[in-house]
Amino acid sequence: MIDFAWAADPDYTHDQQQVPNGPTLHFFYQKNERTANTWKNMQPIAVKVFQFLSATFGKYPFDTYSIIQGGDGGMEYPMCTLILGEGSQAGLNGVMAHEVAHSWYQMTLASNEALYAWMDEGFTDFASDEALNSITNEPNTHAGSYASYFSLVNSGLQEVASQHADHYNTNRAYSTAAYSMGAVFLQQLKYIIGDEAFYKGMKRYYNTWKMKHPEPNDFMRIMEKVSGQQLHWYYRYWIQTTKRIDYGVGSVTELNGNTMVELQRVGEFPMPVDLVVTYQDGSKELFYIPLNEQLGTKPVEDKTLKRTDLPAWPWVYPTYTVQVNRKVSEIKSIEIDPSQRMADINRKNNLKAIAEAKAFKDPTQ
Ligand SMILES: [Zn+2]
Repeated sequence: MIDFAWAADPDYTHDQQQVPNGPTLHFFYQKNERTANTWKNMQPIAVKVFQFLSATFGKYPFDTYSIIQGGDGGMEYPMCTLILGEGSQAGLNGVMAHEVAHSWYQMTLASNEALYAWMDEGFTDFASDEALNSITNEPNTHAGSYASYFSLVNSGLQEVASQHADHYNTNRAYSTAAYSMGAVFLQQLKYIIGDEAFYKGMKRYYNTWKMKHPEPNDFMRIMEKVSGQQLHWYYRYWIQTTKRIDYGVGSVTELNGNTMVELQRVGEFPMPVDLVVTYQDGSKELFYIPLNEQLGTKPVEDKTLKRTDLPAWPWVYPTYTVQVNRKVSEIKSIEIDPSQRMADINRKNNLKAIAEAKAFKDPTQ
């Protein structure tokens, strides 16, 4: 155990729920008009959060967990949390799920939370987001984490995420680096290695490092093993620099009946590129361009989408030309990463509709 907390109040109401094949959950709260309904409604959701997190990221290792009204906001401890608990239902559920997910990322995988806040708060935000999405059947876009990162970039306040938590100039730079950039780090890793290797890696990371103190390298080595890719370049760029990703679709021209699409790496942060071409007949084709630093490729993610694998893009080159074996007139649009898992800071240049491309032709020719 890395920490402890206790709470006592003669006015507490005590409810219990049993997680199937999991811990007994205890709820301690002062029942009043602001808590009576919300704390009851939260209980089956807490059960589902535990079930999802155990199934997805590794089994919760203890027999009990207590959700206690107290403190100010939400604070995680081993086997319990103290949460304020008088807000809205959505707010209460969100705080509960976040604090519960800390049972994985901090209480079981006890990384140094001041040095590697992104492995603690970021992984926790990521996991609790996916747990709540699984209950409401929503896709895992992690859109809120991306929005907060983009907003920080635009503010000019971004600092490197590898910094000690106490040494940021602003609380906003710290919290976005820890919570949002940590969550985006994982979602973007899915883009690089694919969902299957990613979730396999998350479980292997948990089972290998539970009850220990993993460091960034320990996580990266597991992800490299499950994906068969070299990934330290990604860790270094995202966590140890403030370089940004920005890819764009450049000129689109026709050559001998083929379409030549120029891709531009505008940002300093290199990434593999998923380029989806939509044809006039409605069919789509994915052109996959790995980054040479990967020393490997992502497995096919969507078997219903035709994928053409292209040679790796050396990270030093600012442009790359893709040959599409169709005429320009057969193409409707060209888009970089329609999944929007890549944290591209300027998505405006990611999509090119071909009517627009034709407009650039010299009218005198
Ligand atoms: Zn937290």
